Amino acid sequence: MPKMQSVVTSALGEPWEVRTVEAPEAGPGEVLVKVHASGICGTDVWITEGKLSFGVEFPMTLGHEGVGEVVAVGEGVTSRAVGDRVGLVTLQTGCGRCAWCRRGEALDFVTAASCERPVLTGMNVAGANGEYVATRAEATVILPEGLSYEHAAPLMCVGYTAWSGLRRARPKPGERVAVSGIGGMGHLALQYAKAAGFTTIAVTGSPDKRDLARTLGADLVVSNGAELREAGGADVLMHTNSSNRAVADAFQGVAPRGRVVLMGIAFDEFAVPNMPMLMNSIQILGSAHNGTEYLTQALQIAAEGKVTPMVEIYGQDRAAEAYQRVADGKARFRAVITHA
Ligand SMILES: [Zn+2]
Ligand SMILES: [Zn+2]
Repeated sequence: MPKMQSVVTSALGEPWEVRTVEAPEAGPGEVLVKVHASGICGTDVWITEGKLSFGVEFPMTLGHEGVGEVVAVGEGVTSRAVGDRVGLVTLQTGCGRCAWCRRGEALDFVTAASCERPVLTGMNVAGANGEYVATRAEATVILPEGLSYEHAAPLMCVGYTAWSGLRRARPKPGERVAVSGIGGMGHLALQYAKAAGFTTIAVTGSPDKRDLARTLGADLVVSNGAELREAGGADVLMHTNSSNRAVADAFQGVAPRGRVVLMGIAFDEFAVPNMPMLMNSIQILGSAHNGTEYLTQALQIAAEGKVTPMVEIYGQDRAAEAYQRVADGKARFRAVITHA
């Protein structure tokens, strides 16, 4: 059997390490992708630390922000060809048989969360942190021309989430969009909102991110919800950071009939004030990967140069260091592992 180098999470809470493992093959309906870049997501940290599990069994090759080149196609594959530049969609398929799957719903993250046995690349089957990964052909998207692998990788999860979240709020022309939390997701949400033509406001408690937020397209930068309210408020609040307490604060700046989109996974208590919410008819929306159409749109907007992920690039041999940067919240803003 051919071998490959893979970044493996050996056990719960253990650092990532490079191991020699068996290379996958393209089974029927699958493509074999030579991975060029793989982004590290906050979810990877939570899986490694045991805060989240999608049925993971260690040792595990994580990585759900994979992009690369198709090097082999399995039996029956007609939609992809050797040489295609592709990105990997996290949800490969639902089980097809459980009560949820029988409804015939879309392959988005609601299905990932609701199906009894979803197949999730880099979460419960081997992901893109190895040199090669096999996935179902229909769980790939063709990357637009002009978008580098290093920039495409973070868009496969966090960029996809950012654009999905904006669309979920259905902003109307002339509305104001605030992004709270300027990190891996927030720095992209800000750029997407600006690229879509909205007045954008960054909400960040980090003084060192104020200038950067302006560079990324923020028309206005405020420190908290009270300042947001004083500045005229926001019709849409995209909450991207991992603190529910911060939602309650930013909530003060949501305009009447505004929409709050929860996009960052958080584990602290979620408490929003009841009266301002019901009196002002404010909606709170959950949002993640809302359908592949939003992923391809997110990629296209970036290919046109309107959105550019800020990435730190690490060779495979430095994956453990890259992981630590993400776990410590120090990456600016997305760590990407590349395979030679
Ligand atoms: Zn992710
Ligand atoms: Zn199912």
